[in-house]
Amino acid sequence: MVVIALLFPSALAAAAQIDSVYGPLPVFELHSGFWINLHHRLYEEARQQRNAPSAASAKAGKSAKPVLQVAPGAKFTLTGAEQRAWDDAVSYYAANYADKDLLFSTELVLLKNQLGDFETCDELSGTKKKSCDAGLPGRLTQVLEAAAAVYRAHRWPTDDRANRAWIKRAAPLVREQGVGLSHRLADIFQTQWPNEKIRVDVSAVANAAGAYTTLDPLRVTIASTDSRNQGAAALEVLFHEASHGIATPVELAIARECRQRDKPIPRDLWHALIFYTTGEVIKPVLDTEGDASSDRAVPNGSEGSSSSQGSKHGSDDSDYAPNAKRENLYERGWESYLPILTRYWQPYLEGQVTFDDAIAHMVSAL
Ligand SMILES: [Zn+2]
Repeated sequence: MVVIALLFPSALAAAAQIDSVYGPLPVFELHSGFWINLHHRLYEEARQQRNAPSAASAKAGKSAKPVLQVAPGAKFTLTGAEQRAWDDAVSYYAANYADKDLLFSTELVLLKNQLGDFETCDELSGTKKKSCDAGLPGRLTQVLEAAAAVYRAHRWPTDDRANRAWIKRAAPLVREQGVGLSHRLADIFQTQWPNEKIRVDVSAVANAAGAYTTLDPLRVTIASTDSRNQGAAALEVLFHEASHGIATPVELAIARECRQRDKPIPRDLWHALIFYTTGEVIKPVLDTEGDASSDRAVPNGSEGSSSSQGSKHGSDDSDYAPNAKRENLYERGWESYLPILTRYWQPYLEGQVTFDDAIAHMVSAL
C-alpha cells in the first residue's frame, strides 16, 4: 500500500476514477466525481425546498433556510457568505431544475454528463485553465463555482469518502464476477455487452430510486449512501442499471408480441423482467461468494432469512434477496408480473425454452 502510494501519489490523491490498488476493474469504471456529487446534492436540496414551500418562504427565520447538512442530524455552521453562496445555488436549482426529472429531462442528463466529464477540473469557467471551460450557461457556472467552494470545504470530503468506501466494497465482486455476469446477461437479452467499460458515477445521493441510467452514452449513477445499494445489493444494482443499456431487445420483443396479439403493451413488464433476471443471475454468484463481501447480510440476519420465502423456482436455497423482492416491487403494482416471470421466463433462464417462446408465452398469459 505504502509503496504503491509512493509510486503513484497523484493517482491516489486526485483521480476521480477509482481504480483499486489491484488495477482497473473489468466491465465498469467507477468514479467519485466532485461536480456530479455537488450537482446531485443541490438537486436534492432544491427538491426538498420545493416540497416544503412554507419553510423556504419563511425568509426571516434562518433555521428555515436550506442548510448544508453533513450527516443526518449534524449541521455545519457556515459563514454568512458561504451560506449565501449555497442558498443561491439551491435557489437556482429550485427555479430551473427541481421540477425536472434527472432521468427524463434531456437538459439534466446533458448537464450531469458534462459535470462528469469535468470531474478533474477545479473550476467550470476555464478562467484558470482553458480546458476547464465546461461551456455551461454563465449564471449556472457562477452559482456552481461559488457553491463548490462551500461544498469542498464542508461536505465533499465526507461524500467522497462514502463513495470510495462503496467502490472499495463493490470492487472485489466486480473483479471476480463482472466478466462472467456481463456475458451471461448479454446472452439472456440476446445482445452484445458494450465493448467499452460502462461509466458509473458514484454519488452520495442520486434520484429517488437511488440509482438511474442514461443512454447515449450509457452512464450509470448510483447513490453510495442509499441503504438499498449496500452490501451484496451493490453488485445487483450495478448490473441492473447496466442492463437498462442492453435490454432493448426484450422491450421490443414484448411490444412486437403484444401488437401481434392485439394486446396493450404492459408498461413495466420489461423493467420487472430486468429486475427478475438480474436478481436470478446474481443469486448463485453471491451464494457461492462466501467471503467476498464482508458486510453482506449474515444468514441469521433478517434480510438473509426472508429471502427464500415464496421462491419456488431455481435457486430456492438462496440466502440473497434480490432487490425487487427486498423492496417489495412485486407487491407494488407488479403483482401480476412475478407469476408470469416465474412460470414463463424462468424456464428460458434455465435453458429449457427459446427467447421467442418465453416472450410469446408471457404475453399470451397477460
Ligand atoms: Zn431499473
